[in-house]
Amino acid sequence: MSAIPIDIDVSEEFRLLHAKISGFVRTSLDPISLQVDTEERIPEETVEAIRRLGLFGMPVPKAYGGLGLTTVEEMLVYEELTQTNACYRSRIGTSNGIGSMGIVYDGTEDQKRTYLPRIASGEYTTAFALTEPDAGSDAANISASAVLEGDHWVLNGNKVFITNADQARLFTVIALTDETKRASGGVTAFIVERGMPGFTVGAADVKMGLKGSHTHELVFKDCRVPRDNVIGGMERVGQGFRTAMKVLDKGRLSMGACALGASRKVMQLCSEHLKRKLSSGRPRESLQADQFALADMAIQTYAARQMLYHTARLRDQGNTVTQEASMVKVFCTEMASRIADAALDILEEDGCLTANQVEMVLRDVRLYRLYEGTSEIQRIIIARSLVK
Ligand SMILES: Cc1cc2nc3c(=O)[nH]c(=O)nc-3n(C[C@H](O)[C@H](O)[C@H](O)COP(=O)(O)OP(=O)(O)OC[C@H]3O[C@@H](n4cnc5c(N)ncnc54)[C@H](O)[C@@H]3O)c2cc1C
Repeated sequence: MSAIPIDIDVSEEFRLLHAKISGFVRTSLDPISLQVDTEERIPEETVEAIRRLGLFGMPVPKAYGGLGLTTVEEMLVYEELTQTNACYRSRIGTSNGIGSMGIVYDGTEDQKRTYLPRIASGEYTTAFALTEPDAGSDAANISASAVLEGDHWVLNGNKVFITNADQARLFTVIALTDETKRASGGVTAFIVERGMPGFTVGAADVKMGLKGSHTHELVFKDCRVPRDNVIGGMERVGQGFRTAMKVLDKGRLSMGACALGASRKVMQLCSEHLKRKLSSGRPRESLQADQFALADMAIQTYAARQMLYHTARLRDQGNTVTQEASMVKVFCTEMASRIADAALDILEEDGCLTANQVEMVLRDVRLYRLYEGTSEIQRIIIARSLVK
């Protein structure tokens, strides 16, 4: 695998960090990429090395112990990481993405000081709990509820498919606090800590891809959460749906970066395979279909990169990028599936060998089109903003 070129304007400090991360990806992450898939776990010593690099604190502001990376910089790191195995990003990115960004965006100063340094150091892994058995795409349809009783909120309900629930110490949980208002003022985001009475994590889901990253059900049965654990404090009761949607905008850009990294991994395998065939004396004309397919991969990834980093830059400039982030997610994740599928034709019998990891990519990137909003939901968001 080759290092991602940094053809984007970033600080010298970040270039040095990126070079360090690239070296780590090559020496420590790539060699065990297949192992992570087959053993369905990232070794703890690898997670520890990731912690030491500071990657659990990428978007956390420096004032709270994080690296304070910009969106562009963070996407460059994800693109690099996912050239190996998508699960590294799930382990890191869910924690410093959807799991903790609610606190970064909307948390009180006290919540930021209490939790962000621990999240940034990797001491606390975090998870984000929105989806329920009857509320996936239609997130406003959640039924998990929280009722204020004295100094505590009492949570009841189930959440499903929660990434990193087995590792997480801290959960951002989205629950209904006013049935009559629902998404327009009736949904609240809570900080729930592992071990709070009435909160249990179920068994891991057995799934087709992202094998080294686990999802679980969460069960809340009269779970008592301190009054002050509303993200942003009591004045943000009812504002949780907005917090969740803000968190997902950035999450969708990250999915674009991951899909791009996976596409590059597969494209590189294909170009090496074609080079070998050409150098073994096969006439160039006899491989025209494969060369065209490879060229199409290059065209698509080039376009995807422009979209991703243009949108990341817009976000760094303070713009709302809801529509653009949805475009990036659809374009990049659907592209990654097409590229992984086309690679099976180019690579011939080599493509189906587990060792070459194309089948792993094919399974993993298919899941990218489901979570943080399916492709259909992204299209609804885009169309809505065009015809509002
Ligand atoms: C690997 C993985 C990790 C996940 N991690 C998390 C996590 O950490 N936290 C969390 O909260 N959730 C998580 N999820 C859940 C994920 O966000 C949901 O699966 C997703 O939102 C889709 O919801 P659903 O599965 O209930 O499908 P549904 O919403 O039931 O949708 C089923 C199908 O119908 C389509 N559809 C739905 N509504 C419409 C419509 N209005 N118009 C057209 N088509 C529509 C969808 O696109 C989809 O194809 C994860 C899921 C996976 C697979």
